[in-house]
Amino acid sequence: MNKPVLIAGAGPTGMTLAMVLRRLGVDVRIVDKAAARTDQSKALVIWPRTLELLDIQACVQPFLHAGQPVVAARILAEGKLLLQVRLDTARSIYRAALMIPQSDTERLLEEQLTCLGTQVERPVELAAFSAGENGVAATLRHGDGHEESLTASHLVGCDGAHSAVRHGLGVGFEGVTLPSDWLLADLSLDGTLRCDEIVVCWAPEGVLVLFPISAARFRVIADVVTEGKQAPPPSLEAVQRLLDQRGPCGLRARDPIWMSNFHINERKVKSYGSGRVFLCGDAAHVHSPAGGQGMNTGMQDAFNLAWKLAMVWHEHARPRLLDSYSPERSAIGDQVLRNAGNLTRIAMLRNPILQAIRSLAVETLGRIPALRQRVVDQLTEIDLGYRGTGLTVTPQPHGASHHPAGGDRAPDVALTGDVALTVALAGDAPSAATATSRLHGLLGRGRFAVLSVVASPVSLPASLEPIAVAAQAQASPDYDSGHVYLIRPDAYVMLSSKDGDTAPILNALEHIAGG
Ligand SMILES: Cc1cc2nc3c(=O)[nH]c(=O)nc-3n(C[C@H](O)[C@H](O)[C@H](O)COP(=O)(O)OP(=O)(O)OC[C@H]3O[C@@H](n4cnc5c(N)ncnc54)[C@H](O)[C@@H]3O)c2cc1C
Repeated sequence: MNKPVLIAGAGPTGMTLAMVLRRLGVDVRIVDKAAARTDQSKALVIWPRTLELLDIQACVQPFLHAGQPVVAARILAEGKLLLQVRLDTARSIYRAALMIPQSDTERLLEEQLTCLGTQVERPVELAAFSAGENGVAATLRHGDGHEESLTASHLVGCDGAHSAVRHGLGVGFEGVTLPSDWLLADLSLDGTLRCDEIVVCWAPEGVLVLFPISAARFRVIADVVTEGKQAPPPSLEAVQRLLDQRGPCGLRARDPIWMSNFHINERKVKSYGSGRVFLCGDAAHVHSPAGGQGMNTGMQDAFNLAWKLAMVWHEHARPRLLDSYSPERSAIGDQVLRNAGNLTRIAMLRNPILQAIRSLAVETLGRIPALRQRVVDQLTEIDLGYRGTGLTVTPQPHGASHHPAGGDRAPDVALTGDVALTVALAGDAPSAATATSRLHGLLGRGRFAVLSVVASPVSLPASLEPIAVAAQAQASPDYDSGHVYLIRPDAYVMLSSKDGDTAPILNALEHIAGG
């Protein structure tokens, strides 16, 4: 198969997809109708699970260098501390949220793409497409007005909330626009405020959230009371009023860099595509910025789709492998929409009695360590997984591990034996994963890992080598010893079996390869 994959849209989702596909040897064209990358800071947070996935692609270091780690989040109600969650208890090697403006995230992704020999084509708009049995015929409109016809193997719409690909597929974008107005300001704040903490302030009049961007800059987000009128344009004075009314004492706003009003849409498609045309990122789901998961979810859509697309593109796997993309990511999209919607509605409560109940409940529940840890797992996206959906084998074989279970995230672990040496010598860009012969370094090659944890090594037939590699690990607190795990290239367990019982794993791989 030598037709390129066409990616419409070079936001964070499209560039993540292009980067992984290129690393896996797939020809890609990535086009964007905008003449230049965004210079807006929009999405600020990269959560630990996304950092793990960037690490698998051996490119997390530039992000860690450019970002500002945040290790805690606090909720205050009228100055009183209700809850503090420590992100440094995250169950990941990344124990902080990384604050980094979306403009920097896009710049770093584009630099990765350039290193892989691919340029984003701008301004080039996807004008029309039609999918056939052997490919997708697309019309691209270049900035000078001329049109180009192209046949791609697949088309992926990473073209944002107003997606042309979604419209072309005739897919509904069902949901609501919340009846609230929000203000956003990126500026400097004088006063006592930590730059490694997110602060949420609940006040009788509404919510105000303070995110550190760097040592000197913060983002302020607040819902604004408009009493049915149009929200006034944002101003420094309005931000100062909100800070005085709802924020911690003594903060002074100055030097705004970006101020904006926004509305919250909660919308999602039912199907993320099939066959040769797919949707990723904001093209498939938009929701409240509460929880800061929009961009992260889009990038994780891309990580899910990329390895599947690469295996099919290289004809190492049957095309129906791609059928698992929509159910897996749609279930995650539903979960993210639900959680972000709940957080927003709780924050926007105006009834004083409900506000008092909210504060009491959060303060009480926040004293329970297991619940605090659940909040951390959810925020950091470490709890996301594919139990019961898509590729996860259900039921799991008799004697399968529950730690991690089928569908759960596969934590990184040091490898032993021959494969460890091969990974260390692979010569990829430096990263924690590749440098130390770890599972996540191995997964970066886009193949399944058949991981024996204190169990007999598995010998894979030559027919499975294009899609799988066997590896071994010593005892680890993250894995049940005496088990063999089939781990997907995006670091989720597909299934596991007891030492010596490798037939279910080989069958699952043969089913994917079509042997
Ligand atoms: C104010 C604000 C704050 C936010 N804060 C957060 C946050 O804290 N955390 C978080 O995770 N998310 C946040 N988000 C959401 C986040 O910005 C989006 O989820 C993210 O940009 C989605 O990335 P994407 O690549 O899917 O789409 P986009 O970033 O929208 O990129 C789509 C690209 O497609 C291009 N395009 C469109 N149509 C075509 C076409 N026909 N042909 C070619 N190209 C096309 C566009 O030019 C654009 O470059 C925020 C958003 C806003 C507005």
